[in-house]
Order: sequence, then C-alpha cells, then structure tokens
Amino acid sequence: MIEQGSIPNPLAASGDRHRMIRRAYGEADSYARTIAEAFDSWDLLWNDLGISHYANCGVLGISQRAGDGAEQFREWLDRMGFEYERLDAGEAAQRYPFLDPETFRYAYLDHDGGALSSANALRTT
Ligand SMILES: Cc1cc2nc3c(=O)[nH]c(=O)nc-3n(C[C@H](O)[C@H](O)[C@H](O)COP(=O)(O)OP(=O)(O)OC[C@H]3O[C@@H](n4cnc5c(N)ncnc54)[C@H](O)[C@@H]3O)c2cc1C
Repeated sequence: MIEQGSIPNPLAASGDRHRMIRRAYGEADSYARTIAEAFDSWDLLWNDLGISHYANCGVLGISQRAGDGAEQFREWLDRMGFEYERLDAGEAAQRYPFLDPETFRYAYLDHDGGALSSANALRTT
C-alpha cells in the first residue's frame, strides 16, 4: 500500500470508522447493479485477509413521505426482484425502540447489506 499520510488517513474518503453497503440506489440502476460485484470483491478481500470487517446486519429503510428516497430505494428492490422484510410503523418501533412510529409511514429491512469497518480494514492491511 502506498499512502501519502498516516494510515488511516483522516483526509481519505475512507478515512473514518464505517461505510455502509446496500443494494438499493433508487434510480441509479447501473450503480446499484455493481453492488453485487462489490459484495463479491469484499468477500475475496476477507478471504485474503483471513478476517472479515463486514457486519452483515442488514439495512433498514424508513419512509416518511410518499415518494421519498427510502420509498424509491424500496421500489428499486421490487423492480430488481430482491426480497426484503416490510414492517409497518408499529412493528418497526417495537423491534427498534429508538424509532418513533408517529414520524414515519413504514420501514423495510433488506438483509443484504450492512456496515463495513473501513478503519479496521486499513489497520489489518
Ligand atoms: C462522507 C462520506 C461518506 C461515504 N459513505 C459511503 C458509504 O456509506 N458507502 C459507500 O460505499 N461509499 C461511501 N462513500 C464513498 C467511499 O468512502 C469512497 O468511494 C471510498 O472510500 C474510496 O476509497 P479509495 O480507496 O478509492 O480512496 P481513499 O479512501 O480516498 O484512498 C485514497 C488514498 O490515496 C492517498 N493518496 C492520494 N494521492 C496520493 C499520492 N500521490 N501518493 C500517495 N498517496 C496518495 C490518499 O491520501 C488516500 O488515503 C463515502 C464517502 C464520503 C466522503
């Protein structure tokens, strides 16, 4: 690895603790299609490193208004035929007590996705 500054470098795009990875990117179809490749690439990296810095905890979308970003992402999952778990506001708040069910319409959990610990990945390499 060649790096002009410290590792991790706080000025790098990947310079803080986490990045999320998810399938859905709304209308950005071509971008979203590359995510499948990204999942495979990360798997290769974890195999090489002998350790994974990916927490496959899923990604929760929360729609507050009709047609908002979360809804567009969900519609993209529908178009591509990816499965997700849909929760009405009450169910979502029961499972995730930090959510206020009065402030959103519904939520959905896409099990494919989660958090990449970029800082830990850099320390390992
Ligand atoms: C705030 C923010 C949030 C983001 N959130 C997400 C997210 O949730 N999910 C997601 O997938 N993506 C996200 N991204 C995008 C993602 O973080 C970047 O696309 C990715 O980290 C880029 O990685 P990289 O290794 O190409 O570049 P960098 O992490 O920027 O690494 C490039 C490194 O090269 C070094 N360098 C540059 N020039 C030289 C030189 N001449 N000599 C030596 N070293 C040099 C730099 O110092 C830097 O450390 C986010 C970006 C930002 C800024």
